[in-house]
Amino acid sequence: SSYHKVLEENRMLYNQVQDLKGTIRVYCRVRPFLQGQTNGQSTVYYIGENGNIMIVNPLKQGKDARKVFSFNKVFGQNVSQEQIYIDTQPLIRSVLDGFNVCIFAYGQTGSGKTYTMSGPDMTTEQTWGVNYRALRDLFQIYKERSDFIRYEVGVQMIEIYNEQLNGLNVPDASWVPVSSTQDVLEFMRIGQKNRAVGATALNERSSRSHSVLTIHVYGKELVSGSILKGCLHLVDLAGSERVDKSEAVGERLKEAQHINRSLSALGDVISALAQKSAHIPYRNSKLTQVLQDSLGGQAKTLMFVHISPEVNAIGETISTLKFAERVASIELGAARSNK
Ligand code: ADP
Repeated sequence: SSYHKVLEENRMLYNQVQDLKGTIRVYCRVRPFLQGQTNGQSTVYYIGENGNIMIVNPLKQGKDARKVFSFNKVFGQNVSQEQIYIDTQPLIRSVLDGFNVCIFAYGQTGSGKTYTMSGPDMTTEQTWGVNYRALRDLFQIYKERSDFIRYEVGVQMIEIYNEQLNGLNVPDASWVPVSSTQDVLEFMRIGQKNRAVGATALNERSSRSHSVLTIHVYGKELVSGSILKGCLHLVDLAGSERVDKSEAVGERLKEAQHINRSLSALGDVISALAQKSAHIPYRNSKLTQVLQDSLGGQAKTLMFVHISPEVNAIGETISTLKFAERVASIELGAARSNK
């Protein structure tokens, strides 16, 4: 019967999810050149097998010029939004089976974080980012299972700016019930608008705040009566660029310090989890507090790390990759040495 089909499908998914459980995956994505840029300005990089990327600094000589970084996967400049999403899909399905999932976009401003998470234009499905594809799949599975599992879905959209948490749709950042992708898109549209109202210059501000879209799923299996709870956090992090301390003053310096602090707090939490430390320092930033239930334990974490191809970004590119490698290193190190 179709009920058994669903159970079987769940069992298979469960096994798949067991494999992913507790792991932290890091995918690196290289942004293409933007229109009007000259190709002569490229950082030279080589993407190897097994998630390796070698960065060659044309401004340096010899051994110092080359650095190799290792991730779960590396996506080059021509990889489509659809291909980026393929590996994410099982994580999205697992949310409906009662798992907590966190997907992050990390990188300097302009490296493609928003492109990966949302895409350039929400009206063009072909270039949809992870957010919209995830919602589409979520509601599709919700529908497919509706004879056996009754789901309730709620969304919440918050912004963390200077260690302060702002609800973008409702002042107290509470949950809003939704039952279709359309509902969520409308919710996000209002949220984006509110984000703009509060900011003098939207782009400036949005690159200096973390935005967290949370989809909360509650399901009741109609036959057994058992309850599933899962949630999906889609996190577009503030730009990771380091600010020259001698240049930044006032508000700008304060923002930069808050960003640095929260990004390193995130790095600390993730590496403490990977090392299976007894103490996980969740309380060191608003961001890690908000995500506490979805980092560690049974939760699954995926980080998309973005780099720009321009040679003038090489300093940021290398520091971005170092951060990302710290996040990825321990689990990957263990996996590699088992090979
Ligand atoms: P960030 O969110 O990191 O500040 P954006 O996502 O806004 O960066 O990307 C900066 C610019 O580069 C935007 O114009 C965006 O459309 C473009 N861009 C980023 N990644 C890609 C990509 N993979 N393919 C095409 N254009 C991209």
